[in-house]
Amino acid sequence: MIDQERTSQVSEGLLRKLMYLRRELHAHPETAMEEEWTAQRITRYLEVLEPDALLTKVGGTGILARFDGRADGPDLLFRCELDALPIAEENTFHHRSTIDGRSHKCGHDGHMAIICGLAERLAADRPKQGRVWLLFQPAEENGMGAKAVLADPRVADLHFDRVFALHNLPGVAQGTIRVRNDTFTAAVNSIVMQLKGRTSHAAEPEHGINPAAAMSTIISRTLALAHNVPSDAHMRVITPVYAQLGSKDYGISAGHAEVHLTLRCWTDVELEKLQRTVEELALKVARDEQLELSIHYTQHFHANQNDPDTVDLVRAAVQAAGLHLSEADHPFKWGEDFGLFTQRFPGCMFGIGAGEDTPALHNPDYDFPDAIIPQGIAVFERIIRHD
Ligand SMILES: [Zn+2]
Ligand SMILES: [Zn+2]
Repeated sequence: MIDQERTSQVSEGLLRKLMYLRRELHAHPETAMEEEWTAQRITRYLEVLEPDALLTKVGGTGILARFDGRADGPDLLFRCELDALPIAEENTFHHRSTIDGRSHKCGHDGHMAIICGLAERLAADRPKQGRVWLLFQPAEENGMGAKAVLADPRVADLHFDRVFALHNLPGVAQGTIRVRNDTFTAAVNSIVMQLKGRTSHAAEPEHGINPAAAMSTIISRTLALAHNVPSDAHMRVITPVYAQLGSKDYGISAGHAEVHLTLRCWTDVELEKLQRTVEELALKVARDEQLELSIHYTQHFHANQNDPDTVDLVRAAVQAAGLHLSEADHPFKWGEDFGLFTQRFPGCMFGIGAGEDTPALHNPDYDFPDAIIPQGIAVFERIIRHD
């Protein structure tokens, strides 16, 4: 029998320690696959807690710790992310970023503090049964980290009975847990289209092939396919992120252009269809203008598919922890590479409210609210100690 105090309440002392850790991580942001300092800091934090296994450099800079239960049982994985973003911080508080042009604008510093808090609780009182794996995953923001972790030979053969992750949600009341069966985050891919024509004298564009008109046609026709309606199963979000044409040489008519767009749908199948449509459209425009077209993709995220039984475990844990539970009407439009884990293992990603008036994710003034650290720990801990 585990009492309420021990399962769902984080002591003042531990909360203070986690808050300092979170702020320290916030002040030292590192972007995808460069999370060396962060990984070292987390490793030092975990070593003291004497987990039963502690793997470092997992899939690059990742860390995987294991806490064994007193009896056999399921293997549960809890995942957080190490990486920050290439965004300059606008905040001026004491723990602001000390690295130019880098900051924790997705709250991964807070997610790490929650998993460290969970490690503290498991170190103090091992799970009754099974094994708990805590993963600090690199490179979530570019969609490379989950893939790298799962390809690590030390992880590739592991089997997890269930996998869990949370993400903070600005715009939602602090500590409210938002869940959803099936799709939780969108399928996302980034398409890069390069058009090759022929340069000529700027005075004689007729002697070259300038891709400007094709470029703008491709952008406008592609944008016309957009259907940015999250309540619709056939949602299509198409966002131009970058475009380039020719060079700033005023004697030269441009001979090269490129267009980068992100494409988002609710399912991998729908995204696949949208990709084909955009490709065919671009190919036709390029052919009409006698341009060479090459296409490649980058930063692909599979849709994150939650397993309904695993979501039920989260629902029960939220209730047991005395937190407010809300069901999401539709999935979230961002990409999350946790989708690779839920493709392989039954899992659940859920949201935890960061506050109604908090800046949005990736805003330059965003900061993770420390107040939700204990709630995050409580839900994870209740999933482990559910009886
Ligand atoms: Zn992010
Ligand atoms: Zn994130």
